[in-house]
Amino acid sequence: MIDAPGAQMPLRLRLDGGALTSNYRFLANASGSGVAGAAVKANGYGLGAREVVARLSKAGCRDFFVAHWAEAFAIADIVPPDQITVLNGVGEGDIMAALSLGARPMLNSPAQIERWRVAGGGRCHVMIDSGINRLGIGPEQISSGLFDGLDIDIVASHLASADEDGPQNAQQLALFRQVISMVPAQRRSFANSAGIMLGPDYHFELTRPGLSLYGGIARPQMAAFIKQVAFPQAQVLQIRDLPAAAPVGYNATFRCPAAMRVATISLGYADGYLRGFSNSGAAKFDGTSLPVIGRVSMDLVTLDASGVQNLREGDWVELDYTLADASRQSGLSQYELLAGLGQRYWRGWQ
Ligand SMILES: *Cc1c(COP(=O)(O)O)cnc(C)c1O
Repeated sequence: MIDAPGAQMPLRLRLDGGALTSNYRFLANASGSGVAGAAVKANGYGLGAREVVARLSKAGCRDFFVAHWAEAFAIADIVPPDQITVLNGVGEGDIMAALSLGARPMLNSPAQIERWRVAGGGRCHVMIDSGINRLGIGPEQISSGLFDGLDIDIVASHLASADEDGPQNAQQLALFRQVISMVPAQRRSFANSAGIMLGPDYHFELTRPGLSLYGGIARPQMAAFIKQVAFPQAQVLQIRDLPAAAPVGYNATFRCPAAMRVATISLGYADGYLRGFSNSGAAKFDGTSLPVIGRVSMDLVTLDASGVQNLREGDWVELDYTLADASRQSGLSQYELLAGLGQRYWRGWQ
């Protein structure tokens, strides 16, 4: 967060800790005989990794997944470092940090395995690529002796299309099942948020939800159970009464169809409220909807406030940000809607 001593922050992210915990419990239950870890990379999907980790740890979560070593350091005083997994693995420049911290790398390639073995790194995890063809050890790279001498806790793989019903899920599952018999690991982990809903075959000992912890609807059948966690709010900077035909915002993409009251709020694409919300998003004040009119600017958004005569400069409005709806409105993925939330919000957990 950026902060100005004495100044009030003009935008805030209201964060519902009860909803986060409730989402975790739902996903842990839905993981059946497996336990649920948590993906907390990218600063807890934009919400604040430290607060997220503290709450999930209290709710019983014991496996936290970040992408970078710096992200592991950022939470290593909150949970035991050996509960933290660094998904992007261990590069040449990471070895010292990895050994000193005690978080565990997800080893993604034969080169990373060799690096870890030579460094005497100790307990680790291994990622098998079962078809996303991104990070991980391809089945064709597994040779006899590859895992010799490693102390492997988790063998993992990652689904490419768990939010869809095509054939790829079952294909990846079959390949994962085939390969794990060759990896001497304590635990197996396969499913992300959407994967959990694919059923018991996908659960194994540990699941790795991210998106749905934070309110994302990864598959439709979760919609009744997953609660919104993040609620962006912005302060009204100015209110103007404009005549019919007045243009609003950059490039005049909106013209007032009649005389209108327009409220300009302190929020913009620099805060992750991207231009896809131009002329399509909305905010609420006192239960009344205020549609976004005109283009989203870097630091400003204009709203049709004609329906709220009691709105004053300095009042707060709450943006419509239920992720599935906001995704449809903006053309952004639910992931982008969360991870893009910027550094200018005052983040307030309740
Ligand atoms: C981000 C990530 C997850 C979490 O996925 P969601 O779709 O957000 O639930 C799980 N596993 C890996 C390897 C990831 O990179």
